[in-house]
Amino acid sequence: MPAEPPIDTPRHLFEAYERLAAGPTRPIAGGTDVHGRDHRRARAIPDRMLDLSRIDELRGIALEASGLVLGARTTYTEIRRSALCREHLPALVEASATIGAAQIQNRGTLGGNIANASPAGDTLPILLAADAQILVGGQRGEREIAAKDFFISYRKTALAPDELILQVRFPLGQGRELRFRKVGTRRAQAISKVVLALAWRDVGAQGWLDVRVALGSVAATPIRAAATERVLEGARPTPEVADLAAETLRRGAQAN
Ligand SMILES: Cc1cc2nc3c(=O)[nH]c(=O)nc-3n(C[C@H](O)[C@H](O)[C@H](O)COP(=O)(O)OP(=O)(O)OC[C@H]3O[C@@H](n4cnc5c(N)ncnc54)[C@H](O)[C@@H]3O)c2cc1C
Repeated sequence: MPAEPPIDTPRHLFEAYERLAAGPTRPIAGGTDVHGRDHRRARAIPDRMLDLSRIDELRGIALEASGLVLGARTTYTEIRRSALCREHLPALVEASATIGAAQIQNRGTLGGNIANASPAGDTLPILLAADAQILVGGQRGEREIAAKDFFISYRKTALAPDELILQVRFPLGQGRELRFRKVGTRRAQAISKVVLALAWRDVGAQGWLDVRVALGSVAATPIRAAATERVLEGARPTPEVADLAAETLRRGAQAN
């Protein structure tokens, strides 16, 4: 088993930024991915590790004018227990309930799921469908990255090595609906075979607007299904439209 690298445990973001700027350092939040992967695949062990578990600036769930804001260190258990998440983002609560078992939900974080960027990461299609913004920061300052621009290729993200994910902001448009479905081999403790998030605004006679269809586990990154979105945009949710959308989605997923 490879030796453990030294671990820094800062209490403040500025200290974490200094550490990241000083040289190759791997952040650890809940550690549910980091520990498993490094040891299983004997991946290159970084010079140092940066334990984020004492940085309170990365915590918290708040309703702001811009939407629902979750700190990167928010765990799945915190999401499941949050009255704000249950009221404003039930799809994320539902997704959190399907991730691993209680041990993983108690330690695993939203920021870890995003930075890990597995195509099977269960929260990632929700971020895409919700038009979420990811706030990242480092010594060079902070910047917001749209979820659609964050996942670049297989496990590669727009996050620079000296940056941390700080927050995720979910805009909450009036009348916006968001649904989540996960298909795995079991109901619990299963890696997704397919994960889907669907968002839309129902404007009655004009049909559905601002439709977003996002998928996980079907390509190298979580993806938006643009052709299916075009089928649903401006359409009424009839059985014929649903059949056409399902067929378009099936063909699009096979092409990936
Ligand atoms: C038994 C088991 C079952 C699982 N089941 C599921 C499942 O059903 N669905 C699913 O999606 N995932 C699942 N996972 C994967 C994992 O639990 C999640 O991806 C979790 O969200 C990772 O969060 P973490 O805080 O533990 O990340 P960590 O392991 O701490 O970190 C993961 C990666 O993110 C980086 N990182 C973490 N936080 C930050 C930050 N704030 N800024 C920058 N980089 C950061 C780390 O450097 C590392 O590269 C499972 C894992 C295990 C071991």
